[in-house]
Formats: sequence, C-alpha cells, structure tokens
Amino acid sequence: MSDRILIIEDEEKIARFIELELAHEGYKIQKSFNGREGLEMVENGHFDLVLLDIMLPELNGLEVLRRIRRTSEIPVIMLTARDAVMDKVSGLDMGADDYITKPFAIEELLARIRVCLKRKHIETAPEENSYILKAGRLSLDKSSHQVSYDGKPIELTNREFILLEVLLENRSIVLSRDTLLERVWGFDYMGETNVVDVYIHYLRNKIDDTVGEKIIETVRGVGYMIK
Ligand code: CA
Repeated sequence: MSDRILIIEDEEKIARFIELELAHEGYKIQKSFNGREGLEMVENGHFDLVLLDIMLPELNGLEVLRRIRRTSEIPVIMLTARDAVMDKVSGLDMGADDYITKPFAIEELLARIRVCLKRKHIETAPEENSYILKAGRLSLDKSSHQVSYDGKPIELTNREFILLEVLLENRSIVLSRDTLLERVWGFDYMGETNVVDVYIHYLRNKIDDTVGEKIIETVRGVGYMIK
C-alpha cells in the first residue's frame, strides 16, 4: 500500500515539482495551496505524512501545525526558508518531526520522508522496539542511554551519545557539519565550528578503534554518515 502524502505549499511550481518527484517514487499525493484548506484536508483525510510550508496564505504553517497537533500525531516535515532559524525552532518545539530548508535537493527530502515514515511504521507496530537504534553490530538504546557493540558496552559522554544518536537516526543520509552542529549543539551554539570534527574524532576513537570497523564515514566536502 503506498503512503499518502499531503503537500501544503502555496508556491505552485515548488508544490508541483515535489508532487511529480514523490509520485515518481510511488507515493500518493494531494496538494493544497493555503493553510486553512490544508488543515481541513489533514483533519478529514487519511494521510501518512504532511509536508508543510511555513509562509502560507490564510493560516501560516506554524499555526496549521499547532492545530494538527491538537488531535493528531501524523508526521510533519516543515519546509522553511533559509536562515529562518526561529521558524525551525518553533516548528520543532510545536511537534514537527523534521524540517528541510529551501532550496533543497530532492534526494534529501526523499531521504527525510523515508526516515519519518519508517519511524511512524515502527511506532505504530507494537511488537517493535523503537528505542533501539542499530547499525550492523552497533546498537544504541535510547531508554537506558547505552551503546554497545556485539553486546559489549561502549562508554560515551552525553554529547558523544547525542551525536551518535543523530547519526543513527539519519542512517544513510549524509549530514553536513552545520546540520550536526544545529542538532547536537543547538541553534545558539557560538563556539568553534570544528567542534563537530573533534567529536567525530572522539567517537571514532571510542568506537571504530575499539571494534576495528569503520562505522562513521566521512563524505568529503559534505559531512558524515553511518551506513
Ligand atoms: Ca510559501
């Protein structure tokens, strides 16, 4: 059964472009060009995920999100303008699952959609344990805050743990230094920008060197990922 995605985006060209790409990937798509109508469609339709622009006529995206969250846990990915840091923060605070900054590469949007839908399917399947993230023999348990390889515990500091968690939650997606900085250290981090590289180095010392396997990949000129 294909997943149903609602695009709420008033720039018709962008909405049409996303629609074509997602339809090509096999998703069932509907579109709305304004916030009020989009909200009604979420409330009355059976969607699996919503792509929600922030600057919208009638009702802005953050308000649409706020109203969706009164009644529904449907995954929502916000489409935000570059540099609209406050919008991202408010969106995540208000329960958005993820955001993507315009202009974006369609591959990144597709990857984020896959991650959100996968999480949703796991959460709605009661047999599965959504607190454990895995990559091969490496596993991270969010509830007990423990990391292990082949069952053997690996001691990490809190920051290292969060960095690993973000990488594992976005498996097979290359995360840029900026993205990692934002997600692990926060929007208001003012320190050295090479802190990401420093912590990746710590993680590699503790994980890769101990287990003798290269877990964290460097994608030159882009960032880091775990496959
Ligand atoms: Ca807009």
